[in-house]
Amino acid sequence: MVNKLSLGEQLAQVPTVRKGPRCGVGMLLERLDPDDREAVINAMNDEMASAPFISRILVDNGYRITTNQIARHRRRECQCP
Ligand SMILES: [Zn+2]
Repeated sequence: MVNKLSLGEQLAQVPTVRKGPRCGVGMLLERLDPDDREAVINAMNDEMASAPFISRILVDNGYRITTNQIARHRRRECQCP
């Protein structure tokens, strides 16, 4: 099937991401003290750091963060501003 829309027209249809309340990860980052926050952000930014492993460490420390939440936040698919 031939798509008659130009690339620009198709891209113009990409919905803009609605920004809303922070996801669980974003809310956690807000609550942590600066040292812990930086450590979590560094782990998140490290593509090689396993999300399930990060999640387990956070849960062990009393923060209910799932692997999915971490993965979504990393991919910027969450609603964090
Ligand atoms: Zn988020």
